Amino acid sequence: MNDLAPVPAAKGCRETPILKERGQREVFCGLTGIIWLHRKMQDAFFLVVGSRTCAHLLQSAAGVMIFAEPRFATAILEEGDLAGLNDAHDELDREVGRLLARRPDIRQLFLVGSCPSEVIKLDLSRAAERLTEVYAPKVRVLNYSGSGIETTFTQGEDACLASMVPVLPATDRRELLVVGALPDVCEDQLMELLNGFGIDTIRCLPARSIEADVTVGPNTVFALMQPFLGDTKEALERRGARHLPAPFPFGEQGTTAWLRVIADEFNVSDEVFEAVTRAPRDRARRAIAQAAENLNGKSVFFFPDSQLEIPLARFLTRECGMTAIEVGSPFIHQGIVGPDLDLLAEGPIISEGQDVDLQLDRARAARPDLTVCGLGLANPLEADGLSTKWAIELVFTPVHFYEQAGDLAGLFSRPLRRKGLVAGLSPRLEAAE
Ligand code: SF4
Repeated sequence: MNDLAPVPAAKGCRETPILKERGQREVFCGLTGIIWLHRKMQDAFFLVVGSRTCAHLLQSAAGVMIFAEPRFATAILEEGDLAGLNDAHDELDREVGRLLARRPDIRQLFLVGSCPSEVIKLDLSRAAERLTEVYAPKVRVLNYSGSGIETTFTQGEDACLASMVPVLPATDRRELLVVGALPDVCEDQLMELLNGFGIDTIRCLPARSIEADVTVGPNTVFALMQPFLGDTKEALERRGARHLPAPFPFGEQGTTAWLRVIADEFNVSDEVFEAVTRAPRDRARRAIAQAAENLNGKSVFFFPDSQLEIPLARFLTRECGMTAIEVGSPFIHQGIVGPDLDLLAEGPIISEGQDVDLQLDRARAARPDLTVCGLGLANPLEADGLSTKWAIELVFTPVHFYEQAGDLAGLFSRPLRRKGLVAGLSPRLEAAE
């Protein structure tokens, strides 16, 4: 690394003892990932094999699609299926047949497991193999689990991408694979930066269409876009690809450090790096400074939810002037978030997993200026007078790279600004805000 890389904290958090908790958790399930994955993969369909609860979760989280044919649905397991009275496999085959006959635009079909399908041990991998034999090569049928048993909501994307890796065609070409479902606007900006470096053998997983030439092999290097892609990372390594560990591209410093790792791997000179990144870096710094005005000097507490907590704590403490009290994450993969832990100054409690009552006690005692948490915890904490930010918004909103750095800071400053604005209003108006 050269002088363009962020200076590591004098003592980072990589060696900080982790507080491990295994109690009651408050998180969404992995079906949530379908909401952003179906937008990214334009020829994919997600068929959840689950209950009415699963169908309601998807409907309420994704809303009703009025512009196009939906690209997700739930095959509902009825009581007879759950009691083993029907052959769920036969019914699934019939549903898939009807769906594919009606929707010739579908090229990738994901059978998505749920808590009920796992409880009755419905073998969706067998179903996917059987259906692939029937519908290949026109349609590729894969399966993964979005069940909420012992998982958190971002693991749905990880499981989906990991399911795709074994069927990617092999290659010996030297390629860069960018892994993680980025909003198109961020992906386009990324391609512009990487093409500016002169790197042109770049592939994205997931791609917008099955037609994209995504391959993998021993000369593939890959960079993760999200810290929750542990299973996908392992699946790619099993195919011989090499991971490029880097801080995640949130904020100006994170983006610069992430790009620098790729630039070093592809022997991009400092001059080219500087020429490509200088203008967007300056824009990002200015945008962050403006958006983060009311974050400076404030404290933040992260409940474990999205797995983005460690990179975001690094961004908020280094680039927005905040102090982290606790940084909780559902899982901590040192091989993935280690570079962010190096840049996060020693001080906060680093916790993994959750015992929600104990953690609520710690948050209430610390009275942070801002608490980042799941939807279920936001209302009780707001009722206690704490400002909250829903972690799930950080996954739905474009936040990667330079041009989004100001928006990212703005997502955190908005709850504080709103609180400042309503401070003088009556409690009833404040509740309605
Ligand atoms: S997969 Fe499990 S946690 Fe998710 S909606 Fe269905 S039943 Fe609920």
